Formats: sequence, C-alpha cells, structure tokens
Amino acid sequence: MPGKDVDLVVIGAGLSGCALVAALNNRGWSGTIQLLEAGRGPGGRCATRRRRDDLLWRLDHGSPVLSFHAEPCGELRRLMTSLEQRGVVRVDLDPVVGLDHHGEVVAPPDHPLLRGPRWRGIPTMASVAETLLRNGGDAVDTCFGERIQGLSRVDESWVFPGGLRSARLVLSGTLLAHPRSLAMLGWSDVPLREAVPAGHDSVLDEALDWIAGLNASIRWNLMLEFPAVDPAPLPRQIWLTPRAQEQSGVERLVLQRQQQGHLGLVMHGLDDGALITPESQPQLLNVQEQRLLTVLPDLLKPWPTLQRQLSSVHSLGVMRWGAAQPLEAGLPNALQWCRQTQVGFCGDWIEGPGFGMAEGALQSGLDLAELIAA
Ligand SMILES: Cc1cc2nc3c(=O)[nH]c(=O)nc-3n(C[C@H](O)[C@H](O)[C@H](O)COP(=O)(O)OP(=O)(O)OC[C@H]3O[C@@H](n4cnc5c(N)ncnc54)[C@H](O)[C@@H]3O)c2cc1C
Repeated sequence: MPGKDVDLVVIGAGLSGCALVAALNNRGWSGTIQLLEAGRGPGGRCATRRRRDDLLWRLDHGSPVLSFHAEPCGELRRLMTSLEQRGVVRVDLDPVVGLDHHGEVVAPPDHPLLRGPRWRGIPTMASVAETLLRNGGDAVDTCFGERIQGLSRVDESWVFPGGLRSARLVLSGTLLAHPRSLAMLGWSDVPLREAVPAGHDSVLDEALDWIAGLNASIRWNLMLEFPAVDPAPLPRQIWLTPRAQEQSGVERLVLQRQQQGHLGLVMHGLDDGALITPESQPQLLNVQEQRLLTVLPDLLKPWPTLQRQLSSVHSLGVMRWGAAQPLEAGLPNALQWCRQTQVGFCGDWIEGPGFGMAEGALQSGLDLAELIAA
C-alpha cells in the first residue's frame, strides 16, 4: 500500500465504491482519492471470473445482472443512460424461467431481484465497475489485491498500515465495521470501533450499532464449464421456486455462453448454516461442491441438451460469497456520512428502495458523493 497523504480513501471497488468516485469527479470534486480493494480488479459482487488456461473465458460468478425495483430516475437514470449509450450495459431481456419441485419449468417466482427492470454488463458484469472507475478520472489511484486489516485515527487523519494517510474514509463493505468478521478473520475487535472509541462521534456510534445488527445471506456459487453446447436458445437464469429451493439447496442457475460453443453455468447454492472459520472453510468448499454436483442432474432434466453433456462437465470450483445480499433493514441514510470523524458508508446495505441489489449500491455511491462534495 502506498505511503502518502490523500484527501479520501475508499475501501472497496464494487459498484458503490466505483459509482462514488465517478460521481465525485462528475461533481467537480478535486481531491485526491486512493481506492483500496482486496480483489484482483474492480467489480466486487458484480465481478467476472477469468482463467489462466483459457484467456477468452469470462464468467459472471456473482450477480448476473443489475436489478432495479423500478425505472430509475434523476441522477441514477442519467448514469444508466450514459452507460447504455456507451455500450457498457444493455437492458436485460434474456429469458428467465422458474423451476418447481417436480422439475417442471414454470413462471419465475416472485422475487425483488426480478420485479423491476434489469441491465446486463457488456461484455461482462465487471465492465460496469471498470467503466465507473475510469470515470473517476486521474485523481483516483488504485491498489488491488490487498485486504485492509486495520486502520487508526491519528491527529484527525485516517492512517493505514504502510503509512497511507487520509482526511476522509469511505467503507463500501461492512468488513471493517461488523462483528461477523471477527471469527472469520481472527480479529479481537471491530477495526473501525478500535480506531474511534465510543463517545467520540455520536453519528458513528449509532452507525456502528446499526451495522452490528445487519445480517446478510451467504451463497456458495459453483462454477461449471460445459464443453460444447448446441446453439439452441437456453434461459439466462433458472430460478427455483421456494419449495424447489428447499428441496435442492439451490437458489438459481445462471447460464453464460462462452467462445467456441462452450457454456459457463453458475449454481447459486444456499447456505446450510454450518459454522465458517478459516479452518473449516476449505472442507466446506469441498462439501458444497459435491452437494451441488449431486443435485445438478435433476435440475437440468428439462434441458436435455445440457443433460447430455453432464459427464464432461468441468468444475471450476466454488466461490463463497460471505455477504451475498444484505437482509432486512438497511443503514439509515442519515448515518451514511459521519461528519465529525469524516467517515462514510456506501453499498447495497444502505436503506432505500434498491436495498440489497445493484440499484441500491449505485444509488448509495451517488448519494454519498453529494454529501462529501457538499
Ligand atoms: C451470488 C450473488 C447474486 C446476486 N444477484 C443479484 C441480482 O440478480 N441482481 C442484483 O441487482 N444484485 C444481485 N446481487 C447483489 C449485487 O451483486 C450487489 O448489490 C452489488 O454488487 C453490491 O455492490 P457494493 O459495491 O455495494 O458491494 P461489493 O460489490 O461487495 O463491493 C465491496 C468491495 O469492497 C471490498 N472490500 C471490503 N472490505 C475490504 C477490505 N477490508 N479491504 C479491501 N477491500 C475490501 C470487497 O472486496 C468488495 O469488492 C447478487 C450478489 C451475489 C453475491
């Protein structure tokens, strides 16, 4: 991590963090920004998996689309229109079907992610965050592949390991602010709480209390390669009905055509509540992979063209999404920016009609930019 002074550190290059830096640039905010991201590139939960052994392979292994609760308006509408005009997204009209517990194709179940309009990243979902990040302009410096484990507050500045200092801080994920991370990462306290003891900033105290109460769903996404599939039309998403989900432990299947007739398929596996620790995770990944491979043949019965290929399916492993989607209520907008300690939050876990989906992530970045630039 670079040792230098900046005006703003943003942790996380998902949709919300990238929308934030783009919106700050749009508003003419001229501060310097250091963006820090644990992943290898921008995207977060809207990232795209590549392969060293197949340079053309692209698989959207998290969110396959940007879902909205309704047609966007205002600044968000302008953002989507500009992305659409530049060919970075297109309206998603790809077929979505439902699958019931008898293995029959039915209408898709009612679900917030399917109720409103959807957009798809072109050529991949990661393109959206990549483009937003570029829109952040020259003032944004990036550092990928490093998970921030600690931070402190010294003389009104945020200080990071390696000597990076910043006047302001934005967290686009809850990792450094939520007690759920403690067991998984072996930390003794929530890093943001350690940096600012209770009583120093009442808005931050309230925000941390809220964040501690936030829950998120977990997904175990198995990525598969089908070697050669007929060009006949296939659904883009196969959503299981609630009863079928209960029966199979799978939420949906997402299909993505690849070069040379290959097909990528992502099984969005539900969590069974097993305790996840650094020690148990490798074994749990194996257990989930086997479990998902076992239920796959039944789920594909309505698609003989895929069923025929099952014996030559190649597993590309399981991705565990530790906080796939926030559940219940989001962080109130009034707690998004803590003026006294100059720390703020963005992400799909902020309250609003787009809560828990791409819409909420983008909107929260736009809203926070307004607060920071004010
Ligand atoms: C399996 C799955 C399916 C989904 N399906 C849909 C769907 O159909 N439609 C839809 O609209 N939405 C869907 N979503 C939700 C959608 O992906 C999210 O709403 C959106 O991507 C959230 O963006 P974000 O910027 O808020 O968070 P994120 O994308 O999570 O970005 C936060 C980033 O911060 C980084 N980070 C966090 N802490 C640290 C740290 N300490 N150090 C360094 N980096 C850090 C993370 O690595 C991450 O990249 C799905 C999500 C998943 C996982």
